[in-house]
Amino acid sequence: MEDHGKVKHQAKRGLSRRLVLFPVPLQGHINPMIQLANILHSKGFSIIIIHTKFNSPDHSKYPHFTFHFIPDGLLEHETSTSDVPILLKQLNLNCVSPFRDCLASLLSDANDEPVACLIADTIWYFTQDLADSFKLPTIVFRTTSICSLLAFHALPLFHEKGYLPKEDSQLQLPVTEFPPLKVKDIPVIKSQIQGGIDRLIITMMEKVKAASGIIFNSFKELEELELTKTSQDFGIPTFAIGPLHKYFPASSSSLMKQERGAILWLDKQALKSVIYVSFGSIAEMDETQLSEVAWGIANSMQPFLWVIRPGLVQNSQELARLPNGFLEAVDGRGYIVKWAPQQEVLAHPAIGGFWTHSGWNSTLESICEGVPMICSPFFGDQMVNARFANDVWKIGIQLEKGLARGEIERAIRRLMAEKEGKEIRERVMSLKEKIDFCVKEGGSSYQSLASLTDYISSFSISGPVSQ
Ligand code: UDP
Repeated sequence: MEDHGKVKHQAKRGLSRRLVLFPVPLQGHINPMIQLANILHSKGFSIIIIHTKFNSPDHSKYPHFTFHFIPDGLLEHETSTSDVPILLKQLNLNCVSPFRDCLASLLSDANDEPVACLIADTIWYFTQDLADSFKLPTIVFRTTSICSLLAFHALPLFHEKGYLPKEDSQLQLPVTEFPPLKVKDIPVIKSQIQGGIDRLIITMMEKVKAASGIIFNSFKELEELELTKTSQDFGIPTFAIGPLHKYFPASSSSLMKQERGAILWLDKQALKSVIYVSFGSIAEMDETQLSEVAWGIANSMQPFLWVIRPGLVQNSQELARLPNGFLEAVDGRGYIVKWAPQQEVLAHPAIGGFWTHSGWNSTLESICEGVPMICSPFFGDQMVNARFANDVWKIGIQLEKGLARGEIERAIRRLMAEKEGKEIRERVMSLKEKIDFCVKEGGSSYQSLASLTDYISSFSISGPVSQ
């Protein structure tokens, strides 16, 4: 890990200017926002984090930040992540008034340094108009891939061309306007939300276009075409400064306790022998799917480290029940945890592959450690990330038939034991080397971060200066 905590590139002006950051309270969004906060703090800015009660960060871990808590109005049963769009819509409604009050009070504090801008997750679509009303510039932070942003942006086009709603007979067809997506990869999210989620996504995209800039946790060498297209389609300055966890690790903002036993167990395993299996913090499966996953892993005969978090199996907050005979079949060949120190796991020499849900943080963390992937996307951006990992970057094997034990077993063998896996590993290793370079002085992310800090420092009290 590089020590970017020591300031190498100082912003020229406004060194103690305050920045207000507003993370979405989900694990995959909190981690990169806290990393961004640490990076900007290391560049000389004062960091204020406004956060909800739901999944609130542990203040004691960040004595160098100022935290402001706002009531999110969620009732206990509304904090479920089983239907993420409903949760996010509710938060966007409930937080308007408390966020406005909090921002007003921060901006009116004449004794403190002025606030340069708001940095809000793109999902907080309500914040743009509100910040505008205070004449405060907003830079949005997209915590997932650039390719998935473009795919969400193209949803109206996908409707117009007849790809949506998806029909079973068309799932394998190519989306000619958005290669290499197939119809099945279009990033839909199942939800009980009234009127569907498209309206929300369109609103979000409009608000992104109204922002003063967009920050990506990605890097130019991975998504150069997509970065250029975003600049064209959205017409705002773009800053690809990732992978952010190269500067500050994700572990500090983990909402669940990471089990160190995983590392002790890995210490006893052979080099590159273990397949790490984790589907992130939100994905859910039913008991039949859990059984397919379990038997696919068991039948592959490969050592494994498997994260079964409470809630992975629908309606079970406690650890899911493994199928009868599974533990006997694997005969000590594996280790199961509720939550792992993932970044450390991926960096461990015993890890040979990562079977992932293709969440963006997981994908980046895997690339950074040169670990090849098996991709099982569940919903939304994961579908696009997985398709790009399989078809464009060629650093993963996508399971094309859902969760079926035969295909799982075969994919694990292909990745861990066959020539194909070796070639995939070589490609991901080459990307890892590019990352190692891009965050160093002169590298693309390093330069983009320097442009970002200069850009923020150039903001006058009344608004952004054009780049
Ligand atoms: N993570 C972790 N322990 C685990 C599984 C995941 O610390 O056992 C972390 C992982 O390192 C990543 C985040 O949780 O930073 C998951 O983010 P991602 O975007 O991959 O998926 P999401 O949870 O948002 O679906």
